[in-house]
Amino acid sequence: KNKDDNLKNNKPDVSFDDVAGLEEIKEELHEIIDFINNSQKYKKMGATIPKGILFYGPPGTGKTLLAKAVAGETNSSFYYASGSEFVEKYVGVGAKRIRSLFEKAKKNAPSIIFIDEIDAIGSKRNAESNNEKDQTLNQLLVEMDGFNKNSTIVVIGATNRLDLLDEALLRPGRFDRHMFVGNPNVKAREDILRVHTKNKPLDASVKIEEIAKKTHGFSGAQLANIANEAAIIAVRNNKEKIDINDFDAAVERVVAGLEVKNPTVL
Ligand code: ATP
Repeated sequence: KNKDDNLKNNKPDVSFDDVAGLEEIKEELHEIIDFINNSQKYKKMGATIPKGILFYGPPGTGKTLLAKAVAGETNSSFYYASGSEFVEKYVGVGAKRIRSLFEKAKKNAPSIIFIDEIDAIGSKRNAESNNEKDQTLNQLLVEMDGFNKNSTIVVIGATNRLDLLDEALLRPGRFDRHMFVGNPNVKAREDILRVHTKNKPLDASVKIEEIAKKTHGFSGAQLANIANEAAIIAVRNNKEKIDINDFDAAVERVVAGLEVKNPTVL
């Protein structure tokens, strides 16, 4: 997937309306959004903006999308990085990349820095030291401790495995707010399907709430995928609108794809 889509001059064209379900998290994020949008008010009161937020939970549940929406709702610049990009053979390369990432973000603040798969650099340090990884993590900590109270930068990290992370990363003033982003329940699945069928012509035979019931255990990404596959199948069948047979075939196709990738899941 292309993580740079919806980006115009580093500003994501994504709002909370694009994120279905996850109501509690959106509620919590509203506070952060208010901090960014009215930072002067908080600074006058002597309050400091949270520097780091951690999203954790299974893949495809909307962590990247939420981070983009925070940027969209605050008109912030958005910087995407994946933890694995920083893991290099040569000591110092990852640290240098972290430094330049924060430099760009500072220059174009307010900024959201999103670090996906943060466990790739932030997993627990152990006796068997890995210089490159440790230096990269140290640089991230230095940057987070270092950006001054006046620059509005929020770092959002994402991981599937909270338990792997080094405690130094989770300390107050670093990633001290943790939000679980889980798979959607039936109501959220319905909402996600509605978001992803909004601009698609649907035949009257399509009952979104019925599809939501049939897709227990599916992630947001898989539901988005079903909506797209259904549209593709409808085109292939020369239909004017997407009907329920196209959706059923799309669900089957997505399930089959999962079985190929991970035969133990289903
Ligand atoms: P990963 O851990 O694999 O990086 P993620 O949690 O960051 O996954 P996203 O990349 O945000 O997941 O989700 C992929 C796509 O799935 C989104 O771009 C969006 O199209 C769709 N999607 C996922 N969750 C939602 C949601 N809650 N509402 C609307 N669309 C969603």
